[in-house]
Amino acid sequence: MSHTAELIAVGTELLLGNIANTDAQTLSKELSALGINVFYHTVVGDNPQRLRQAVEVAKTRADLIITTGGLGPTCDDLTKNVLADCFGKKLVYNEEAARRMENFFCKLHPDSGRMTENNYQQAYLPEGCVPFQNDRGTAPGCGFVAGGVRVVMLPGPPSECGPMFRDKAIPFLSDLTDGAIVSRSLRLFGIGESAAESQLREQMNAMENPTLAPYAKEGEVELRITAKAADPAAARALIAPVEADLRERFGPLVYGADVPSLEAVCLQRMKERGLTLSAAESCTGGLIAQRFTDLAGASAVFKGGVVSYWSEVKHDILGVPQELLDQYGAVSEPVARAMAEGVRRLTGADLAVSATGVAGPDPDDRGNPVGLVFVGIAWQGGGFVRQVHAVGPRGRIRHIAASHAFDLIRRKLTDLELK
Ligand code: ATP
Ligand code: MG
Repeated sequence: MSHTAELIAVGTELLLGNIANTDAQTLSKELSALGINVFYHTVVGDNPQRLRQAVEVAKTRADLIITTGGLGPTCDDLTKNVLADCFGKKLVYNEEAARRMENFFCKLHPDSGRMTENNYQQAYLPEGCVPFQNDRGTAPGCGFVAGGVRVVMLPGPPSECGPMFRDKAIPFLSDLTDGAIVSRSLRLFGIGESAAESQLREQMNAMENPTLAPYAKEGEVELRITAKAADPAAARALIAPVEADLRERFGPLVYGADVPSLEAVCLQRMKERGLTLSAAESCTGGLIAQRFTDLAGASAVFKGGVVSYWSEVKHDILGVPQELLDQYGAVSEPVARAMAEGVRRLTGADLAVSATGVAGPDPDDRGNPVGLVFVGIAWQGGGFVRQVHAVGPRGRIRHIAASHAFDLIRRKLTDLELK
């Protein structure tokens, strides 16, 4: 049976334009991947009368109502009270929610003693609901069924809302649909979304179960396969041949399934092999190092790096020969190669990467176009440089340049052709 969802975002700051309703975007993507139609996005302020009106309207046109925001401890957090009231439910104290909040609170504020009374307000949930404990914050969410309508309440902060939907609400919804919904995300680097989509269009249109949806992410593509079946094992069995087919079709462009990021894949592989890494960065200004060291456990692998923005630093510190800088310029294949070799020599790392390019918004003084980046990798006795043409604003060009460095590492470690 196909369901019709309405999202109700609660928050005056959304109406004032202080923040964008990114929760609605996240949830809409998730719901469409589940085959649930989203017909309305409603936004309402922190006002009980107007929230009540919005819920009454939603009841008439949706069988799944998902609210975001207003679950916290302050007096403008009124979502649970209003929703419980609209569906004729009392709020009851949830012991486990209170205990989890206390634990979370203690970790966050080890010195400030006990939670205050208004924090405990958050532990009250509508009677008969399925509590969604919050693994990333304090306010629990919940789901319940009343009068043929499914209601899901999620916290506002995006770092809590999306994960709670995936981890807690999806199982709650699949329960109601008498089956399991399982997704698997293949991550690709080196192909644009439109290229991936045009290759897959016919297949995607013909597919009903599993469904296949592409998402673009900063120079990457994620292909999400979602299957519904009687149980998770059966759903996974539906996914397997589709995954195999996609892996066959896209070959080395696929860098992982259900993995967090390209750099996480690199860290994992380097750790397994006991290898170390360093980076020489010009246009990325330390972004390669930052993204890598954002990962827990990076210290086992990442030795360090040099941000060599000026040619003098490329020469004096990394030992890039002056002739190369004079003859080819800082944004060039030979300089990228020498930077990677230089930092490898300096740090004694097994692998080193480098990036030198034009992040924009203006071309460099040699007339190199914005987005031209040379990304290098060096290892004992060898190296390789990839020429990249990235498009977009400065931040995106830098991000993509860093991603290419990780892609070179990944390819090198998987014995894939470097190109
Ligand atoms: P908390 O426990 O943090 O108070 P909450 O469930 O009460 O969570 P709100 O107080 O409504 O949520 O919002 C908390 C923060 O979450 C907001 O300041 C905002 O940054 C973010 N937020 C809320 N709603 C949305 C939304 N629809 N899209 C994106 N961000 C949101
Ligand atoms: Mg709040």
